Amino acid sequence: MKQDIFPTWRGEMEYVCLGCGKTWPADQLVYACPSCNGVLLLRDKMFPFLKLVTGEEWRLVLDGRMGTRINALRGIFRFYEFLAPIVDQEDIVWLGEAHTPIVEAAPQLRNVVGASFAYKNDGQNPSASFKDRGMACAVSYLKWLCRKKNLDEVLCVCASTGDTSAAAALYTSYVGKPLRCVVLLPRGKVTPQQLAQPLGSGAQVLELPGVFDDCMRVVEILAAKWPVALLNSKNSWRILGQESYAMEAAQWYNWDVSDQFFFVPIGNAGNITAIMSGFLKLYELGIIKKLPRIFGVQSSHADPVFRYYDKPENERVWQPVTVRPSVAQAAMIGNPVSFPRVRMLAEKFIDTAGPAAFQVIRVEEQEIIEAMILANRHGNIACTQGGECLAGLMRAVKLGLIDENSHAVLDSTAHSLKFVDFQNMYFNDSFPPDYEVRPNPDLANKPVELLSPDAANGIDPAQFAELGARAVAEKLGLNKEVKK
Ligand SMILES: *Cc1c(COP(=O)(O)O)cnc(C)c1O
Ligand SMILES: [Zn+2]
Repeated sequence: MKQDIFPTWRGEMEYVCLGCGKTWPADQLVYACPSCNGVLLLRDKMFPFLKLVTGEEWRLVLDGRMGTRINALRGIFRFYEFLAPIVDQEDIVWLGEAHTPIVEAAPQLRNVVGASFAYKNDGQNPSASFKDRGMACAVSYLKWLCRKKNLDEVLCVCASTGDTSAAAALYTSYVGKPLRCVVLLPRGKVTPQQLAQPLGSGAQVLELPGVFDDCMRVVEILAAKWPVALLNSKNSWRILGQESYAMEAAQWYNWDVSDQFFFVPIGNAGNITAIMSGFLKLYELGIIKKLPRIFGVQSSHADPVFRYYDKPENERVWQPVTVRPSVAQAAMIGNPVSFPRVRMLAEKFIDTAGPAAFQVIRVEEQEIIEAMILANRHGNIACTQGGECLAGLMRAVKLGLIDENSHAVLDSTAHSLKFVDFQNMYFNDSFPPDYEVRPNPDLANKPVELLSPDAANGIDPAQFAELGARAVAEKLGLNKEVKK
């Protein structure tokens, strides 16, 4: 009998500081450089040895793993050797995340947009956002660490624009002891669905006034002063897990992404960082022959990364911004913690694939919500951030940045249902003024009430059905009855 084999390869991981270059051992919980407070990345010192396997051989191994029956390899860890090759099979938590479908835009939608594209529906992950990719990695690592170090309680903490806390609560509740989960949310700045998720998973939810950036500062102090595990994207293990998005997309297109444009919303910039890093790893290993192009998208209400790259190279100064309310609420971040990672990876991308390989596009709130509505009226399940990607693509088409025979992949980072309140505000024309969204009444779609509430009183179900059918026919203008 042929048996699936869990990879035997093990790497040697360490944290590397992007500020001072110092390294720190991977079996510690560190989220900022203990020496200079800089942003960290994880590096596998053994990675160069993976090049002893040819790109062709890797492709065969990875394609072979598509049929695995080992649960630990069914999710992000199909790409085990490239992510966190120190965790063992027994530590890996898989809750059904990853391998989300890439759905081609309907021909009618493609015609409206003027470019051919697809959505990668990362809202089809278990907690309904891409955050599950990173959480699967971070929580698997924590399990490994607890086992190695015999820890009997680890307090897991995160600040969130909604989806990180949903994912953190889900994954830690699956593991249970020794993990305990506390999430900090900006009061009133997450959707009711996103608030319900950690509550449902049994996490302790603490609400603070302010916006995400304020909660993030609180969590940073907590992580620096007390022994807690931080589950924000400052946690470099999360970035590793999120690299799987790029790897899956490359595999989906049979390892050729040379004519692909990837559109990614930028909030804390963890996702776009991870996606670039994932493609670079595949490129370095010869698994893909050419890098795709990456477009980051930001709303004009939270656009620090756009502002930075909008300037000529010698005039660029990094400056956080104060955010204004945004329908792309999960990306409403004025001081993205991963910005130094973006700068480092964008440079690598541009060095390898030319100046067009990494660009940032800015869109307006009105464009974001209307792009989402447009997408969803053509069979998609895009969230507002997915709408932001489509708005970015439409802007890029207008700016002449998209070649004729290229194809775009848009990240719908969450499921539309998480952000349905923004759709409702659009349909009901109830946006507070600072969103700067003016609904177009032609796009509104509202339920129509037929019959009075007491219409069923005193008649039998057959009579009621007859009455109902007549009311529907009248409303739809079906005036000719078909004789049978
Ligand atoms: C977190 C999140 C983003 C922003 O991603 P970053 O990694 O913070 O840039 C976008 N969309 C959704 C749905 C999210 O949950
Ligand atoms: Zn440092």
